[in-house]
Amino acid sequence: MTDRIDRIIFATENAGKIREVKAILADVDVEVLSLREAGLHTDVVEDGDSFEANAVLKAKAVKGDAHTIVMADDSGLEVDALGGEPGIYSARYMGEDTSYRMKNQAIIDRLAGKTGAERSARFVCAIAAVLPDGAVLTSRGTIEGEIGYEERGEGGFGYDPIFMVPELGRSTAELTAEEKNVISHRGRALADMKEKLRGLL
Ligand code: IMP
Repeated sequence: MTDRIDRIIFATENAGKIREVKAILADVDVEVLSLREAGLHTDVVEDGDSFEANAVLKAKAVKGDAHTIVMADDSGLEVDALGGEPGIYSARYMGEDTSYRMKNQAIIDRLAGKTGAERSARFVCAIAAVLPDGAVLTSRGTIEGEIGYEERGEGGFGYDPIFMVPELGRSTAELTAEEKNVISHRGRALADMKEKLRGLL
């Protein structure tokens, strides 16, 4: 029997992610804290060979207690014409400190001459949750789209300005936070995780 869970520590220092995660988990009756809010910091080496493996590494790097679920996500952009790049290396693509303006332009440049479905891409998000008894759950969400021809929009973070959602004719940086969270890889993966944790939260 597990004690009542009263907080989730979400193991990320990415401000864009934590903003989305808090909004998506707003209906859950427990406190959601970022690493920084929990007074923690980790230097985990993300050397897993899949989004799931890296999410588990990040979540396991944080020590919870009997009332805490530690969650982490690993996410990224897969561009089909680039053989799935940048994939699990999305944050490190061209170097961690390179601006997204430059990373986004580089991807646009690498797709020169390609049109329509040849520009297909997806965002992928894997979530890992480590329960107080050490059990590990994972979930995955994706959103399909196409790489745009230029950056569009000011919302979101990272690769959002070049990720076009064909059904909406807008990039994910042009969606409101609420619109993005309903259809995004992170929103879908967290919705699935909430289902898996039903009864505990
Ligand atoms: P992680 O922190 O190792 O999971 O790296 C994820 C990286 O993937 C981020 O730094 C972004 O570059 C990219 N990424 C993941 N999710 C999104 C998103 O929702 N919008 C834009 N870029 C994203």
